[in-house]
Amino acid sequence: MKHYKIAAIPADGIGPEVIDAGLQALDVLARRDGGFALDVTHFDWGSDRYKKTGALMPDDGTQQLKGFDAIFFGAVGAPDVPDHVTLWGLRLPICQGFDQYANVRPTKILPGISSPLEGVGPGDLDWVIVRENSEGEYSGHGGRAHKGLPEEVGTEVAIFTRVGVTRIMRYAFRLAQSRPRKHLTVVTKSNAQRHGMVMWDEIAAEVSREFPDVTWDKMLVDAMTVRMVKKPRSLDTIVATNLHADILSDLAGALAGSLGVAPTGNIDPERRFPSMFEPIHGSAFDITGKGIANPVATFWTASQMLDHLGEPDAASRLMRAVEKVCADGVLTPDVGGKASTQDVTDAVCEAIRIENA
Ligand code: NAD
Ligand code: MN
Repeated sequence: MKHYKIAAIPADGIGPEVIDAGLQALDVLARRDGGFALDVTHFDWGSDRYKKTGALMPDDGTQQLKGFDAIFFGAVGAPDVPDHVTLWGLRLPICQGFDQYANVRPTKILPGISSPLEGVGPGDLDWVIVRENSEGEYSGHGGRAHKGLPEEVGTEVAIFTRVGVTRIMRYAFRLAQSRPRKHLTVVTKSNAQRHGMVMWDEIAAEVSREFPDVTWDKMLVDAMTVRMVKKPRSLDTIVATNLHADILSDLAGALAGSLGVAPTGNIDPERRFPSMFEPIHGSAFDITGKGIANPVATFWTASQMLDHLGEPDAASRLMRAVEKVCADGVLTPDVGGKASTQDVTDAVCEAIRIENA
């Protein structure tokens, strides 16, 4: 039997609620499959730790995670800690420390869940957004001069490297190639931003020559938001910078019904380090502790994790169970239902148990 070492970091807000749900489903899947087991280690890193010790995770945090096969992450952020502190104190050091340069965000409308777009249902919207996850606008460069004075200047520098852009472009073309429609849309803002963004366009054209069977087109990010809403069927695989894809994928989540169903994988495609899987949503203070957080995004990202670990059958079994439960109308309030997190989790676990595939 294969054993996978999983580091669970539930962190803040609804993070522990959805990670608990995800682990229940993974446990049932592993028992049902019989071919693998997950050895889960819990880490109590997050904002509570920050309030007690001044750090969200220990100094050697990434070192402690190094030996794991994957990281299963909840959400970070607390009402009484600044968001840049929580983000840079936990999630970004893991993404950057492990060079998880491909952030992969599948989006589709699940059966039983309605999109705010009129006349758009399951099958009409099936995208994967690839977000550059190691540089760009979130490279952390910049500064503030004359702080607090009237002449203060703040800079936020986006850094793009040929190596960084080429590798994400190759990853996106390869992913597009593996999907039925073999189409990639490259998003930039190369009209207003005339340096790094123009380099993105040039590298896209170069890399495209390695993938003659993939069709591709270019979009400016502002026009892209309109296309996502007006012509969702025209899109398939999408690649964009760290900032642009961050924004586009929240929109994608909303168009698919709720942020509560949107998953993401922070992937090191070269597999030098553990990759990290998490729901896209944050810690959702407004519903924390109410037992109504939608666990579907976390199930979906657990399925991504199983795929990454080399368990594609269990990964598909989990998604079939999720789709069945959604189609049956066992839904949390964010997608129009009355079920609790545990109701949905029980239904998914039961669907895994009874499926006779
Ligand atoms: P959010 O994603 O936490 O919540 C936005 C809205 O979506 C809220 O109304 C919330 O109730 C709803 N929602 C989110 N997930 C849901 C789920 N699973 N089920 C049902 N409803 C759900 O975003 P926010 O309110 O902008 O941020 C709250 C905190 O989370 C902030 O501190 C922010 O920095 C942090 N955050 C963290 C991450 C992360 O850990 N990756 C991502 C985004 C935001
Ligand atoms: Mn985001």
